[in-house]
Amino acid sequence: MSAYPIDRIRADFPILAQQVRGKPLVYLDNAASAQKPNAVIDTLADFYRRDFANIHRSVHTLGERATARYEAARETVRQFLNAEAVEEIVFVRGTTEAINLVAQSWGHSNLKEGDEILITAMEHHSNIVPWQLVCQQTGAVLKVAPIDTHGELLLEAFERLLTARTKLVAVTHMSNALGTINPVERLIDMAHAHGAKVLVDGAQAVPHLAVDVQALGCDFYAFSGHKVYGPTGIGALYGRRGLLEAMPPWQGGGEMIRTVTFEKTEYADPPYKFEAGTPAIAEAVGLAAAIEYVQGIGLEAIAAHEHDLIQYATERAAEVPGLRLIGTARHKGAILSFVVDRVHPHDLGTFLDHYGIAVRAGHHCAMPVMDFFRVPATARASFGMYNTREEVDLLIYALKEIIKVFS
Ligand code: PMP
Repeated sequence: MSAYPIDRIRADFPILAQQVRGKPLVYLDNAASAQKPNAVIDTLADFYRRDFANIHRSVHTLGERATARYEAARETVRQFLNAEAVEEIVFVRGTTEAINLVAQSWGHSNLKEGDEILITAMEHHSNIVPWQLVCQQTGAVLKVAPIDTHGELLLEAFERLLTARTKLVAVTHMSNALGTINPVERLIDMAHAHGAKVLVDGAQAVPHLAVDVQALGCDFYAFSGHKVYGPTGIGALYGRRGLLEAMPPWQGGGEMIRTVTFEKTEYADPPYKFEAGTPAIAEAVGLAAAIEYVQGIGLEAIAAHEHDLIQYATERAAEVPGLRLIGTARHKGAILSFVVDRVHPHDLGTFLDHYGIAVRAGHHCAMPVMDFFRVPATARASFGMYNTREEVDLLIYALKEIIKVFS
């Protein structure tokens, strides 16, 4: 195996080559959003310089070019997730919108009073609140599978919560607050054995793991472009063709219709039925560039690099007095969430910024996880394809220095 091309990768991300507060930037906030390589920045600029126009139904050259690039981006996403058909890829604003789409369209038309939706105790708010909304609207009930003190899902309890009433399981592939990677394939099999459909929240998984929706067997899979080194405002929902075909639209407008009269409207087929209005055209093209960039490095190589970083960071974190890791699952992505005695996570975040180190401090949109661990917040260092062991060393050094001030 050839060496991981870390220098080339870092050079591809121009934002990294800057100083923050007089120190080289150490960007460890990738779980919130990842930085963009030149391949993405240049693709966006070139698209706006040469090919931009509104898409679909256009007879002029730019309109046709832009449409071709937008639809080619859909094909790139299809390949990325290994979906069977391009019609199964709906462009959305991101994971949040994808989950709301399923909750409102599939949920509204398939749930009735007493039906159950099963989620887990480690979900991001965007995989909790949309289900609460549809439960309020339909009388369905939200059930929550518990986790243990390592941040692992309790599989037996999960299985016990599956009943004939369970209509949908919505589970994160990888937790943003804890780093836990869930055994989604097993969870999907268990859910299907009870006749439930499964939505996987892939927001954190997609930048770090190769995802194959056919091998997983999930019914829906959601992710955001901005976490996989692509633009903001774009993401995708994979939905099984038969399910998308049977689902009603959730927003009405242009693009999503076949014919409209004042008496009756006929809807377009999926995926267009779910893409009302002018979509994020350049962003979709930019997302394709991001996916191609990631595939050029190889997700396996990226995963191996990040695995090394999280192992090293976990080992070195033990040297920091009073530091407690939140999230110690056996199967974990490159996320180090922690608290430190006597120093509030927000203060840690602010002081680390003085060392040029960007981490996130807060509840990470997973307040129930914070409640479970009885902490108000954590500090979170999350690693991406361009991070290095030297950056881990800087983080540990800075933490030790900060803690000295407080002790
Ligand atoms: N789920 C998980 C696990 C996440 O980490 C995030 C983003 N923090 C989301 C969902 C929501 O993604 P977005 O804000 O891009 O819609």
